[in-house]
Amino acid sequence: MTRDVQSATPSPDTVTALSPPAGSSCASASTPNTAPLLGWTLDELAAIAREFDLPPYAARQLAGWLYRRHAISFAEMTDLPLRARTRLAERYRVGAAPPHEMLVSRDGTRKYLFAVAPERCVETAWIPDRERSTLCVSTQAGCRMRCRFCHTGRQRFGGDLSAAEILNQYRSLPERDRVTNIVVMGMGEPLDNWGAVRRALQVWTAPWGYALSPRRITVSTVGVLPALRELLAETHVHVAISLHTPFTEERAAWMPSERAHPIQDVLEALRSADWAGQRRLMFEYIVFSGLNDSPRHVRELARLLHGLPCRINLMRHHPWPGSSLPATDEAAVFHFRDALERRGFVVTIRRSRGSDIAAACGQLTTARRPTTSAVAGMSLPLARDATEKSWYNGRLHE
Ligand code: SF4
Repeated sequence: MTRDVQSATPSPDTVTALSPPAGSSCASASTPNTAPLLGWTLDELAAIAREFDLPPYAARQLAGWLYRRHAISFAEMTDLPLRARTRLAERYRVGAAPPHEMLVSRDGTRKYLFAVAPERCVETAWIPDRERSTLCVSTQAGCRMRCRFCHTGRQRFGGDLSAAEILNQYRSLPERDRVTNIVVMGMGEPLDNWGAVRRALQVWTAPWGYALSPRRITVSTVGVLPALRELLAETHVHVAISLHTPFTEERAAWMPSERAHPIQDVLEALRSADWAGQRRLMFEYIVFSGLNDSPRHVRELARLLHGLPCRINLMRHHPWPGSSLPATDEAAVFHFRDALERRGFVVTIRRSRGSDIAAACGQLTTARRPTTSAVAGMSLPLARDATEKSWYNGRLHE
């Protein structure tokens, strides 16, 4: 993941629009002694159906309640026998949990804080943009990759998220039904938590799951092998590789993962993959003005990426306190884009979004938050009725 990295201080113009349940914070989130069903596959739900003496079709009923009807409790699953629902609730829970807090940027971007396991939080960004709206989800509380330009990588690593915790950032997002694209670019390196990410991708794209097109999902990675090969072989989602320089030594200085997963090996895996159809390959490139935007970099990029059907996404760097890399010069980024385009690359300059609420993924945090004061006029567009509204307002776990 490497969306823009910007100032971490929310502007006074931003609005805290969703306050946490009274008396709760990420620190107080408890782990119930039931297992979450969110993230279970159809085969696994079939095993549960057998265990509870339910007919085989009950697996599809369970999946329907979990992923299509967005149930928040077994009580809602009225086409299952009452006794089975009671027994299921003794062992399992749905696993949906509303966000604690929401910040709204002046540009419309919203950043949500979700509690995961006790004392851990992750942030999720929702980025509306005309006819598209993109959800950026986290996969780890913190990150072990420690990229030099990323604030997340400097924070204490708080562990991997479960598939339920990854999916819940979509499931419990108030704007869920408006999401057109999901980018797995939030806190954490997705392929460093490949087991849970693989499961989340399965549930997002399966017909019995959320049935989203894989063309609406992008996984961003520094290129962790061999998980990258499995991602390429098993899924059809778009792939974005954090590159930032074509030179190995320079990349290793900024991204310690280069030592374990050299870009040459990553490119070899990418060249072996099937890019036919609409699957897209992107390279993410934060422009550190004066460091990685020289003609030498353009020439080496052309050599390194020769023959790969790809797009280069240029991003701005806004230094955060303690960051030692230079900010992006506005004129220079356009100059660099033009030089790349002359070499035949398709290049996009990413707009910075949500910078006033520190919603760029390099700014996302595992830090515990104090509770904030309630704000009048809270809007919960997904709440179907008073029950769900009260769930959003007051419940951490069903
Ligand atoms: S430190 Fe982790 S979250 Fe930050 S850019 Fe690197 S891989 Fe992404």
